[in-house]
Amino acid sequence: MSYRIEQECPQCGGPLEMAETDRLLRCSFCNVQSFLSNTGPLHFILPRRQPDPFTIYAPYLRFKGTIYSCLDTRIEHRFADLSIKGVKLPFLPLSLGLRPQAMKMRFATSAFPGSFLKKASSENEILARAAKNSTIRDEKILHQSYVGDVFNIIYLPLSIINENILDGVLERSLTTIPQGSLPFAGTVIDSYAWKPLFLPALCPQCGWNLDGEPDSVVLFCSNCSSGWQAGGTSFSEIKVKVTPASGEDELFVPFWNFQIEARGIRLASFADFIRVTNQALVIKPEWEEMKLNFICPAFKIRPHDYLRLATQMTISQRYSLESTESIPAKNLHPVTLPHNNVELSLKVIMANSAVSRTGIFPRLPEIQFRITDYFLHYLPFDKTSHELHQKTLGVTINQRVLDYGRSL
Ligand SMILES: [Zn+2]
Ligand SMILES: [Zn+2]
Repeated sequence: MSYRIEQECPQCGGPLEMAETDRLLRCSFCNVQSFLSNTGPLHFILPRRQPDPFTIYAPYLRFKGTIYSCLDTRIEHRFADLSIKGVKLPFLPLSLGLRPQAMKMRFATSAFPGSFLKKASSENEILARAAKNSTIRDEKILHQSYVGDVFNIIYLPLSIINENILDGVLERSLTTIPQGSLPFAGTVIDSYAWKPLFLPALCPQCGWNLDGEPDSVVLFCSNCSSGWQAGGTSFSEIKVKVTPASGEDELFVPFWNFQIEARGIRLASFADFIRVTNQALVIKPEWEEMKLNFICPAFKIRPHDYLRLATQMTISQRYSLESTESIPAKNLHPVTLPHNNVELSLKVIMANSAVSRTGIFPRLPEIQFRITDYFLHYLPFDKTSHELHQKTLGVTINQRVLDYGRSL
């Protein structure tokens, strides 16, 4: 479920509405496109009906994405969509429940009167809770990581009225304050400075309009062939490689390519990867010199398909593909997963690639990856009625799977 946000156009102040995962806003009043360039979690407020200048905002951590758990013999995945309180206050509801679905959220800026409580729980606690899975019993979890669609903070407004702490959304008492007690003891007021960072969607290099869909996390300049992602107060350029199409209406599908430095396992070349995952392939001498890339979908897709595609793509780098830096003007599938939302999944991809799991799974806890470089690669896929097909690599994607991913 994607939440809705109300926001004014950063250019003309006209009213806009966006989905929680949208990054590129097009204003229908002034026609200007603005890009949301924050790099960390976005902060939202659930607006209240009764204004109160003494509102206390309690943080909730909101996660939507897939948790992967590597067990002895298999990889479990679980889609999680939850919001859990980020401060240890016993009277607060554990989760926001349906509140964010019933209303439109706003960006949480310090322009809202009141005090913001500092979050006390870490992302890892939230993920551990999200990963709880009834199908995992008494089994040792060797490795757990996630691919996040959303990792944000939502503030619930609270008021103190007549010795009662009020849920500012439902306007209902959460608890009565016992005489002489300090209900907010142990929490810290945050020196709150977060704000949404909107940039006009213009190429920093040549001033041309940048292209993208509302949910695109990477925008492209068709004039100077460059790619741009969120970088805080300015855009950050990313390296883009494109394998040219051979036909007219092939669709270009984006993949993140990561180079890593591994500890606890030898993984310096593509040949090492083939050995470690014991693929039934005869290792060619040139693979010993070939840099290993972990290759993952740069678009939202269901967990099972994500793992399958990442595994196939990583193994298929043995086929050499021509590539240029010239970005096509049309038929690009949007990049909807930022590189830092998928980086943690690389170990799971290695585990999933292993033909025999007994060799590599027990070693997972000791293995560590550090990303040293990354780039975005667009590959052409042939379209038939139901399928997209990458001829050289022999990789297929069901068209419905691709469309479904946009609605996740
Ligand atoms: Zn406008
Ligand atoms: Zn440009």
